[in-house]
Amino acid sequence: MYNHEKILKIISSLNLNVLCNEPMCNHTSFKIGGKADFFVTIDSVNTLKQLIEILNDLKINFFLIGNGSNLLVSDCGFRGVIIKLGSDFRKIKLIDDETIECGASALLAKLCTFAQQNSLCGLEFAYGIPGSVGGAVFMNAGAYESEIKNVIISAKSINYFGETINRNIDNMELSYRTSVYKKVDEVILSAKFKLKKGDKIHIKQKMNDFVKRRKEKQPLEYPSAGSIFKRPVGNFAGTLIQSCGLKGKQIGDAMVSPKHCGFIINTGKATCSDVVKLIDHIKAVVFEKTDIVLECEVETIGDVSY
Ligand SMILES: Cc1cc2nc3c(=O)[nH]c(=O)nc-3n(C[C@H](O)[C@H](O)[C@H](O)COP(=O)(O)OP(=O)(O)OC[C@H]3O[C@@H](n4cnc5c(N)ncnc54)[C@H](O)[C@@H]3O)c2cc1C
Repeated sequence: MYNHEKILKIISSLNLNVLCNEPMCNHTSFKIGGKADFFVTIDSVNTLKQLIEILNDLKINFFLIGNGSNLLVSDCGFRGVIIKLGSDFRKIKLIDDETIECGASALLAKLCTFAQQNSLCGLEFAYGIPGSVGGAVFMNAGAYESEIKNVIISAKSINYFGETINRNIDNMELSYRTSVYKKVDEVILSAKFKLKKGDKIHIKQKMNDFVKRRKEKQPLEYPSAGSIFKRPVGNFAGTLIQSCGLKGKQIGDAMVSPKHCGFIINTGKATCSDVVKLIDHIKAVVFEKTDIVLECEVETIGDVSY
């Protein structure tokens, strides 16, 4: 049985900084989500291992978040423990002339800047993606004709028994917006990226150009989770949604962005329920008019179904 007091006792015994009844809207780029019973930020691998082993043993629900930029959290929140990796997992270092090792909670933007400062190219595409390195590996994040798969060589993780696992690219099953980590219970701790020597100024120009293109095309002035749907084979979700007459369609405060129909934006106080209803509506209309089934890209926490 779910026991609030017992969980609090366990977390406190590990000397962790814990927030109780923490609104998840404070931790998602969508600015949506009810309260999580417990929210802990973890700074060391050992504590992470201990906590995960205990929670797993006692069958207490937990969910690891990165930077919260691809998450839709239920209005009822989450019964259990939300875990976020802290400072010890943000380190970025050069392994050799062309290889960078990066902690899972470092922001992609920091990794890209580090690469640029070391005259290493290959990561420019990721500069404007507002996720952490762990989240980007989990999702095989990509943009502008590249993706994590093209630059990663290996990653270190721990499973829910606290065992360390090293995966090289051959056993990461990276493909369009997915990875092996969606199938296995593992927390990514760090990843290694193999890049190429390039010109610092040219790399910076490319990064800036991609960001400029994002600002022009994407509704970055509103909270969102980026593209809500995966790209259907041979098509673009945004184009399809627009061609079905859904541009600007609104349910509650959730709206199909008039600037980019692939984005659902939170125009004020959108709830998860508004977003789910809008997703269902879009999927139904697009299927009715085109026979294409749209699949969500966004990950969910708590009781969310569409
Ligand atoms: C404005 C905007 C633009 C975006 N543009 C793009 C884009 O161009 N391309 C693209 O691919 N995505 C894009 N996204 C989506 C999002 O930024 C990416 O999916 C990103 O990789 C998610 O990383 P995150 O750290 O925020 O992960 P979260 O959203 O926090 O989590 C996503 C999933 O990753 C898992 N996860 C996170 N960290 C770890 C870890 N250390 N170990 C194991 N699992 C982990 C979580 O459990 C969850 O299931 C965009 C989002 C926004 C808001």
